[in-house]
Amino acid sequence: MKTSDSAKPGASGRLTPMMQQYLSTKEENPDCLLFFRLGDFYELFFDDAITASRELEITLTGRDCGLPERAPMCGVPQKAVTGYLNQLIQKGYKVAICEQLTDPKDSEGIVERGVVRIVTPGTAVEEGLLDRDRNHYIVSICHSEKAIGLASADVSTGAFTVMELTENPRVELFDELTRLAPSEMIVNGALKEDAAFFEALRRIAFADSYADWAFQLDTARKNLETHFAVASLASFGCEGMDAGVRAAGALMAYLNETQKNALAHIGKLAVETRSHSLMLDAVTRRNLELTKPLNEGSGKRATLFGLLNRTKTAMGARMLRAWIDQPLFDKDAIDARLDAVDALFRDPILTGSVQESLQEVFDIERLAGKIAYASFNARDALALKRSLAALPAVRDALQNDLPPMLCDLRGQIDPMEDICDLLERAIALDPPATIKEGGLIKSGYHEQVDAYRDASNRAEEWLAAIEIREREATGIKNLRIGFNKVFGYYIEVTKSNLDQVPFRFQRKQTLANCERFITQELKELESQILGAQDKLVALEYELFVALRDLLTGEIARFQQTASAIAQLDALQSLAASAAEYGYARPVIHLGDAIEIADGRHPIVERMEKDRFVANDSALDDGHRLMIITGPNMAGKSTYMRQVALIAIMAQIGSFVPATSARLPLMDRVFTRVGASDNLAGGQSTFMVEMTETAHILRNATKRSLVLLDEIGRGTSTFDGLSIAWAVCEHIADPVLCGAKTLFATHYHELSELEGILDGVVNYRITAKEVGDGVVFLRKVVRGGTDKSFGIQVARLAGLPQSVIDRAREILIRLEDADLNHPKASDTLLGFDLVAQAEHLERNENARQSALIRDVANLETDAMTPLEALTVLTQLKTQAKELL
Ligand code: ADP
Repeated sequence: MKTSDSAKPGASGRLTPMMQQYLSTKEENPDCLLFFRLGDFYELFFDDAITASRELEITLTGRDCGLPERAPMCGVPQKAVTGYLNQLIQKGYKVAICEQLTDPKDSEGIVERGVVRIVTPGTAVEEGLLDRDRNHYIVSICHSEKAIGLASADVSTGAFTVMELTENPRVELFDELTRLAPSEMIVNGALKEDAAFFEALRRIAFADSYADWAFQLDTARKNLETHFAVASLASFGCEGMDAGVRAAGALMAYLNETQKNALAHIGKLAVETRSHSLMLDAVTRRNLELTKPLNEGSGKRATLFGLLNRTKTAMGARMLRAWIDQPLFDKDAIDARLDAVDALFRDPILTGSVQESLQEVFDIERLAGKIAYASFNARDALALKRSLAALPAVRDALQNDLPPMLCDLRGQIDPMEDICDLLERAIALDPPATIKEGGLIKSGYHEQVDAYRDASNRAEEWLAAIEIREREATGIKNLRIGFNKVFGYYIEVTKSNLDQVPFRFQRKQTLANCERFITQELKELESQILGAQDKLVALEYELFVALRDLLTGEIARFQQTASAIAQLDALQSLAASAAEYGYARPVIHLGDAIEIADGRHPIVERMEKDRFVANDSALDDGHRLMIITGPNMAGKSTYMRQVALIAIMAQIGSFVPATSARLPLMDRVFTRVGASDNLAGGQSTFMVEMTETAHILRNATKRSLVLLDEIGRGTSTFDGLSIAWAVCEHIADPVLCGAKTLFATHYHELSELEGILDGVVNYRITAKEVGDGVVFLRKVVRGGTDKSFGIQVARLAGLPQSVIDRAREILIRLEDADLNHPKASDTLLGFDLVAQAEHLERNENARQSALIRDVANLETDAMTPLEALTVLTQLKTQAKELL
């Protein structure tokens, strides 16, 4: 549907003044839907109305606008605006909120209106649009030749960070975006021109380019310096980060434009470096279900965050989530957290009183955001007061003899007695949610407020006195004085008593069974009462705004306290879950050994309860690659994930599900899980598997932990086995990689690597054949396995007995057949066996040719005798393998 030309601005006719105002506002915000405030509604006109009525499924009507045709119109009630806003921003629209800036009562002619804010998917702060336990980020990405700058902001809390990605910028960008899970992205023009890359970004969240001028280095730097009121950005430590500064400056410009400068709560620019944390790529985050379940339907407890979250405040929940999303890579920092968790863990009374005191603390961080946004109302002020009042108890709960981190946090909690006292004195006990209807200010706080209140209270008494007096004077017993908003005060007399009404009563309104009158005396009193009330409401508003302005100056103090509370809450949450689930304190060291005794998978153990079988893990430089074999369903991936989760939990500063754990400081954790678990749409599963493997081989270091689950399964057996074998060789090579690796495979052949390749050790997960079936013992033991129990597992899965029996028959034949000398009598499978034998031969031929080529290519003239000897030994080994 399109607007007809005659209803469009510019067609003949004269627009009404209000429509002119609408159109000039719309012109200033062409890429937004304009919510134009008219009384109790936000109205949309023209194309905006058509779009909104379609998207929100609301009725499209029309309104006279001075042109020959009515303007298409639709509207949403102000009271229900949040829900509609939510629907629109979820669909990627931006909404400009245009408010009445003056009171219609005080305006001559048309009411002044202006856009107070532009709500975009990444900048919504309305209650009901925000999850309490996670940050809502908008990010800005600046792609330059050398690097990608990535800035992020949460406008509900004031968090503002920047980082620069330089090594493998695009891959790193996706890792970081998975961590931040932004709701909106702005990018520089150059990035948008790379259509394929931009499209990939758009699959993550709403993305669009923003003005190129904002991304220019000088403008961007100036923008940041102006906002933070600093002469140079050196104090933030981001000098020289050109792409980062450009991204952050553009983000600041965008926020200024959309939030109309309500950014007092963005007080600092935090520079982040990837190498300061344990790096987790997008695939690993997903596979290990750190904060998001693989399967949305599996419930909150399916994630590590859901499991460990015992926080009492929203701030604490967000902090814990951020810790889990970004584990540390600094032994001292990890130890500091572990010390704090340990102290709380050992002292349940201490933890109990910390928890109890935190219970009273509201979301100070977002309340501070609301102050900056001027959306802070008197109820928020009460919540803030109650929170501040609870802080001394939080501090008192932390006794003197505590580890440094807890002592530091204690010192950072500022109960702000001055502010608390002010709010206590100023804010009424049960204020309304709006600040324009009075009832905000407590009696005793301001003389004039008390005087106006007195006047209206006294007026109530006078009214009662007049009522009694008039009853006596007229003899009308049921005469009563009433009030309504349209007619004001009146004296009401029922029809049967009308003959007793005196002349001095002036008729005001006639109803079915009564008449309403006014007297001179009542008129005067009315103007006194209403005058006083209007003045009271105006004064209360003024006082409240002054108070809010004063609080704006204190935002940094609120934020410091909020951060301390959040950390304390996250620490107690870790301690509480450690106690509840029986975790142990891990030891982080700078050596290379992983030694876990009785390790458990934190989430699977909750589901399996007593049935969960704990397992040890031991890896070090000498035993760096564990080949883990065992039947399907034996518990291979559970075991591998438990090792990774334990390592990650330790670097978060959490206790771990084990009886003891000594762990080296890890730089990265990588995972590559079975092809069937592939999530990326589009690519073939084998392609995904190989891309992920390539990523690991290129980036893993000696300090990394790698989980490989069934590499090579997505292709034919021989291909797969060869790839798996070669991957093992690469990873186990201490020069090329040397990462601590857990390699789960159903290729029993890989067990042969132990003894051939330095650092490889075989493990298997035990299962026992019982009759026709299999019992999983789930114990990880040394040694390879030569049995796959595939058929038994298939039986467990419910394959029909006839199919199971047939499979057994085929298996026996296959096992009896001689692969190296297939006979035509191997009917049924003969063809396959011959083909496989041929395949083997082809492989061998290829290896022979490679050897001959290597010999032919030798540059013997350029070799020293020692080099020649080394090469000769290598060639001999290769030749022997081919015999
Ligand atoms: P695999 O990777 O070998 O196919 P999984 O690791 O997926 O096997 O485990 C299959 C199921 O076995 C899991 O869903 C879990 O319920 C159970 N399981 C795994 N490990 C254990 C264990 N150590 N103790 C008890 N149950 C386990």
